Amino acid sequence: MSLIEVKNLTHIYGEGTVFEKVALENVSLTVEKGDLIGLIGHTGSGKSTLIQHLNGLIKPTSGEILVDGKNITQKGPLIDIRQKVGLVFQYPEYQLFEETVERDISFGPVNLGLSSEEVDIRVKESMELVGLDYEIYKEKSPFELSGGQKRRVAIAGVIAMKPQVLILDEPTAGLDPRGRDEIFSEIKNLYEKGNMTIIIVSHSMEDMAKLAKRIVVMNHGKIVMDGETRD
Ligand code: ATP
Ligand code: MG
Repeated sequence: MSLIEVKNLTHIYGEGTVFEKVALENVSLTVEKGDLIGLIGHTGSGKSTLIQHLNGLIKPTSGEILVDGKNITQKGPLIDIRQKVGLVFQYPEYQLFEETVERDISFGPVNLGLSSEEVDIRVKESMELVGLDYEIYKEKSPFELSGGQKRRVAIAGVIAMKPQVLILDEPTAGLDPRGRDEIFSEIKNLYEKGNMTIIIVSHSMEDMAKLAKRIVVMNHGKIVMDGETRD
């Protein structure tokens, strides 16, 4: 069984209005355990819409999505999906809301009902995996950090839920080349040491050819290419 199966997914924004926009048209995709996918395509091609579906954030016009064999397009508690599929937003500011880095990262695990010892362990492990020093950052406000550091906090908060699949929407947006290389090496580290299946949304074929093991290309709401990279 595939980890994720997307079957004939169509998403129309503002259906029946003058703003109607077909963002996804009959998209089918399977994600296997251990995949490291670069999802690329021009602006407006439907990448963010597709990955928001994988995380259960929005509901499709038609089609279905199975995660671990379970249909997530039907009603059910979102926390189940969040534990399986973690999503780091294109603008990570939107998922940082606590006063300290530690509280931000522990928010998910606390909501899972873990003991405070288990929460502590998860926070420290996640920070280490994304390269944030626990002692230096735990008391800092997420809002006073740089773009790259904010992104690391957002990633740590998502991986603290121990999802099977981690999705990063444009993880290097707004970073300079050095910040970009750092985030890419953290992602490689997460893939290798964190034992995770990863999907990275990007505009850059060049970046993804270096980083990903499989490339999926979208154009006008459809998948137009899906193949392995040579390494
Ligand atoms: P980018 O690379 O710019 O982030 P994307 O590939 O992620 O683009 P989406 O954000 O999925 O593209 O958008 C796909 C299409 O759906 C676009 O035409 C966009 O204008 C439209 N769209 C996206 N979100 C909404 C929304 N909330 N309401 C209406 N239309 C939307
Ligand atoms: Mg997008």
